[in-house]
Amino acid sequence: MIQLTTATAIEKAITKARTVKPRVRVNCFGSYTVTNKATGATYTVTCEKRDGKRFAHCSCRAGELGRACYHVAAAVAAHIQLATEQAAH
Ligand SMILES: [Zn+2]
Repeated sequence: MIQLTTATAIEKAITKARTVKPRVRVNCFGSYTVTNKATGATYTVTCEKRDGKRFAHCSCRAGELGRACYHVAAAVAAHIQLATEQAAH
């Protein structure tokens, strides 16, 4: 589990996500499949809110060790966009 505090905490991962530009597929609200287009590797990222805190989990090795990986950064960006769209309805 990776706790999402501020954007600064996952800034490095965000920068990497911008470079790698992985494809993010929405499975459902809070669940995303992130694909590295170069290697074809896919990871599942889940986002959830617990006690008002946001957490994310990624199925990759770094994610399982609790490190913010770029998959999480990419999925969180999609998640925030989705949440914003839902709030607008
Ligand atoms: Zn990951």
